[in-house]
Order: sequence, then structure tokens, then C-alpha cells
Amino acid sequence: MTQHVVQFSGGIGSFCAAVRVAEKHGTEQMVLLIADTGIEDPDLWRFADDTSKLLGVPLTKVSDGRTPWEVFHAKRFLGNSRLAACTGVLKQVPCRRWMKENTDPNNTVAYIGIENNKRDRARIPAIARNWKPWRTQYPLCGKWEPVRTKAQLLDEARALGVEPPRLYEMGYEHNNCGGLCVKAGQKQWKLTLDVQPEQFARAEAEEERLRALLGDVAILREQRKGVSYPLPLAELRRRHHAAPPIPLSP
Ligand code: SF4
Repeated sequence: MTQHVVQFSGGIGSFCAAVRVAEKHGTEQMVLLIADTGIEDPDLWRFADDTSKLLGVPLTKVSDGRTPWEVFHAKRFLGNSRLAACTGVLKQVPCRRWMKENTDPNNTVAYIGIENNKRDRARIPAIARNWKPWRTQYPLCGKWEPVRTKAQLLDEARALGVEPPRLYEMGYEHNNCGGLCVKAGQKQWKLTLDVQPEQFARAEAEEERLRALLGDVAILREQRKGVSYPLPLAELRRRHHAAPPIPLSP
């Protein structure tokens, strides 16, 4: 019998992918595989538990045991939008290890919940290559699957009685690493400063510790006169707080 392993990130895309798999194949041979990075928003776990209850499938949780910050210390390299070792160490490696120990590639399909837009669809060939020898499917990108916006996917969860993760409501594009993803740009870090100042302070302190160890490195970079410079979170915070507030429309 084919085993159906949903790579469940705790995001809305993988939620909807899991629902599609359950509708098509039932849940008897279904696994909800989720990696714990140690810095997820607590509401991600509430959402994951609600999804598990909805589908009647227990969560299969894997974990490296370290946080992204601990990985950066170990690798002596601070992750950023161009290169982030954390995703491989904390997500891909533990999930692959679980797949290796618990599935047979000949009768297992891994499902990835990437959303049906041009940018995400372009990632499919690389994802498929990385997952070999397992076959991969992308339930939200199927030929007959209508293109849905993120808002529609969130409404789908609500219609099934599952409240979406709170990070979306707070303005985040993704529900990962509590809004502290090192791959995110300035816009998201400013959002974190506005809506989760205590989490921003935590990231800023972690970044400062890594700067003390590694020198002038930063998660973010900025261009000045055509030259790229590190932009530490502490500096971003100072500038953001010094900037005049955006006037409210009448
Ligand atoms: S979501 Fe971002 S910070 Fe978290 S593991 Fe992935 S790349 Fe690293």
C-alpha cells in the first residue's frame, strides 16, 4: 500500500495539501511529518494540533534539537537571504532521516504544499531533485486545481473549522520560525519590530552574539552607492524608530 507523507510545515499551503491528500487517498496511510526548529510561534503548534484532530492523523514530529541560532554558531556562519544552513539542518535532514528509517521509496509519495503561483511553481524541479529517490507531488499545483490566493486558502481552513495560524493575521507571508526567518527581507523584520518587539529583541541579541564571534556580519544587507554592506538588526531598529510615522489617510 502506498504511504502518503505530507511534509507539513505548519503553513497554510501544507495544510491545504494535507486536506487534498486526505480527500483523494483517505487518511489510513497518511503521515503528517513536521520538523521543529525550536523557535516556532506557539500558535503554529496549536494549528498543527487542530489539523491533526481534523484529519484524525497524529503529528509525526522530528527535531534536530537545535535552534537556527545554535546552527549558525556551530557553522560559524550567520544565515541570510542568500544562504541559510538552518533549513537544511533543522528541516530537510531530520525529515529525510525519518523518511529513510520509516518508508520505502518505491511505495511512498512525499507531498509538498507549495502554493500555485509562478514563483513557487518554479521551485518544483529543484524540490523534486532534492527529494529523490522519493516521488513528490504538489497537490495545490495540480492540473485541475484552481489557482487560489493565500486569502482563499486561509478561508478554506476556517470553513473546515480550523483557525489559521495567527502570524498570517499579523501580516506575515509565512508561518515559519515565529516570524524570525533569516531569509526574510527588511520589510518583514520591520513588521516583526512593530508587532512582535520582544521577538525582534531576541533576534537582535542573537545576531549581536554572532557578530561578536564572527565580525561585521548581519542577516540583512543594504546597498549604498552600488556597494553592499551588512545591515545589523540593531541599526534597522534605530532607523525604523527614528523614521516619521506614516500619516493616516483621512
Ligand atoms: S524558516 Fe528561515 S530561519 Fe527557519 S529554518 Fe527555514 S530558513 Fe532558517
